[in-house]
Amino acid sequence: MKRFNISLKKIICASLIVMLLITIIIINEIIISKKKSNYDESNIDFNIEDNNAYGGITEESSFPNDVYGIKVYTQFIESNSISRWGIKRKIKYIVLHETDNFYKNTGAKNHANYLSYTNKTSTSWHYTVDDSEIYHHVPDNEVAFHASNRTGNLFGIGIELCVNKDGNYEKTFENATKLVAYLLNEYDLSIEDIKTHSDFTNKNCPHNILVNGRLDEFKQKVDYIIKNENMQRR
Ligand SMILES: [Zn+2]
Repeated sequence: MKRFNISLKKIICASLIVMLLITIIIINEIIISKKKSNYDESNIDFNIEDNNAYGGITEESSFPNDVYGIKVYTQFIESNSISRWGIKRKIKYIVLHETDNFYKNTGAKNHANYLSYTNKTSTSWHYTVDDSEIYHHVPDNEVAFHASNRTGNLFGIGIELCVNKDGNYEKTFENATKLVAYLLNEYDLSIEDIKTHSDFTNKNCPHNILVNGRLDEFKQKVDYIIKNENMQRR
């Protein structure tokens, strides 16, 4: 009887260990599949090994220091970051966003630092514009993840307009029109290539521009800047 008890204990003990191992394996699988689905949110099925750029290689990426008098700071996301994929692509669109971040001091520099030091997701975009300056986060000819859609991410330059309550939104709006005019010129794009995040998904972004019906005004201002620029060049 004693011998039987010992072997029963051993069997129970072994079964518990096996069950524990199986549980650990299952939990591990769940964690891995969750991590994978974070990437999948951006709807990209890239072959990273493929060095051919999507849509054909665009001309050299531009690194502006200044667009029509607005200072542009370059603070690229580290190349080994989860949000800097380094995939080359053709530029076809500008995609407008608003940060929806109303806290004080959440201007362009603050967002640049967020992307550089805090962000732990694959989300990224190319420029953030506030009422006095612009930050450049990802080279224009590299894919970034901002549009919630494959086409938008693959071919769009993502621009975030700041809406911090201690900022001057009208000035931010104006500065963004200057950046967009510069980029359209730089990459031979047209006014029709100005898109909004909402063109690619059902998110109401850029919120202020959309709810106040100011997209046409934005495009007209961009058009005016480009025409004026071309007049001066002649
Ligand atoms: Zn957006």
